[in-house]
Amino acid sequence: MKFSCKILLCSLITTAAAFGIGGYFFVNDVFKASLEREIGQATDDSSILRFAFETAALNIPSKYDILQNSVIEEIGANLENSGQGSGRLLRLSDENREVLYASEGFVEDTALLSDLGEQIRVWQIIHPDRHYYIRTGIVVHALDRVLYLETMKDVTEVYAERARGFAVYRGLTIFILLFSSVVMYIFSRWLTKPIRLLTQATKKMTAGDYSYRAEQISGDEMGQLTMDFNHMAGVVEENIHKLENEIRAREDFIAAFSHELKTPLTAVIGYADMLRSRKLDEEKHFLAANYIYTEGKRLEAMSLRLLEIIVAKRYPHEPQDTDVEELFAWLKGLFEERTDMEILFDWEPGRILSDGSMLKSVLLNLTDNACKASEPGSTVTVRGEKREDGYYFAVRDHGVGIPAEECQKITEAFYMVDKSRSRSHNGAGLGLALCVEILRLHGSTLEIESTPGVGSCFGFLIPGGESR
Ligand code: ADP
Repeated sequence: MKFSCKILLCSLITTAAAFGIGGYFFVNDVFKASLEREIGQATDDSSILRFAFETAALNIPSKYDILQNSVIEEIGANLENSGQGSGRLLRLSDENREVLYASEGFVEDTALLSDLGEQIRVWQIIHPDRHYYIRTGIVVHALDRVLYLETMKDVTEVYAERARGFAVYRGLTIFILLFSSVVMYIFSRWLTKPIRLLTQATKKMTAGDYSYRAEQISGDEMGQLTMDFNHMAGVVEENIHKLENEIRAREDFIAAFSHELKTPLTAVIGYADMLRSRKLDEEKHFLAANYIYTEGKRLEAMSLRLLEIIVAKRYPHEPQDTDVEELFAWLKGLFEERTDMEILFDWEPGRILSDGSMLKSVLLNLTDNACKASEPGSTVTVRGEKREDGYYFAVRDHGVGIPAEECQKITEAFYMVDKSRSRSHNGAGLGLALCVEILRLHGSTLEIESTPGVGSCFGFLIPGGESR
């Protein structure tokens, strides 16, 4: 069953119960009060009649020692006539419960008389022939006789009033139920609208539309739920995009890796085949062997780089107190022999928290790339400076530079701006990918500034103050 139908049903049951029970008690209370009033009047009436009877009996001439049955009958008739129009009936019985006088229509049974003793007054409700009566009984003492006076008062109207009250309440309850079912249907649809909107959003998202958001139409708990849902949908969408990007990057990586493997392997297989199938002169023999050697070296370098990237990605590094002096001295030693270009080292003394050997790999890659991008005779500067938030390294060259749209891509594995130029330098497009991974471990990023034809500057900040 739909939630809106449940709300509708619950409210209808509550309304029906409230009106039904409330109406029953209300009508019944009114009825009880009316009946009690009628009973009070009937018993009072009975007392008045007894008094009237006894007074009438006193006025009987004294020649009668004892009250005659005919006189009783006469008094009874007089009493009845005096109350004509009030709908009251009466009956007089003697000591032996023998009826002496009875109004026309008075019920014949004498059950009440058996309950009536001396000085006792009784009443009961009787229900003969679809009519309701209050019957009272009272003992009358007159001229040495004990008589019983009974009255009957028609209270059918009081019962009819109760039945009418119930009927009115029944009708009212049905009308209110019909009316409230229309109103509650509209309310329940309005109250459950946010749920329907959320359901629609989940369906859309399940169907792959991750950018779909549920419309927020209220500021209450449902509105908050919609807001939270939309926030969750945003996070899910972001994660899905991230995963998609990751999958795409992996596929690109595998494609690029296969391609990078294929090129040297084709050369190696071709030259090896040449060597084994023909007898070559000494020079061609050397050339073939040299191709195999250099391509083999390229493959070796590539696999080592990949291994380094995997190590940097997977295994936690342990930062140690490192003297930048030692880093620069090591780097300087590596490039000392180069005479084709000027490599300047300029650094401020300082200490950093880092994995020294990993950082050396970054500096070596950046300096090597700068040299590869520069023409002979050009200048490459490797700088180190202390900053408030850490130690900053920068490698600047005046080489070919990188087009702006390529700057983001060159840190992807196997990406090379100029493939033939990179391959001629034994590059496979893995150096910067490794640098980025190492810097990520140090909480740092690679900053690239470059202008084609002017030169490039690769910089990074190792965060933290002096380590000691
Ligand atoms: P490779 O091993 O091919 O050098 P890298 O990941 O280190 O791989 O570099 C990726 C590409 O970025 C290089 O192929 C080159 O085209 C470009 N690149 C890197 N450094 C520089 C630089 N200083 N100047 C111009 N281009 C550069």
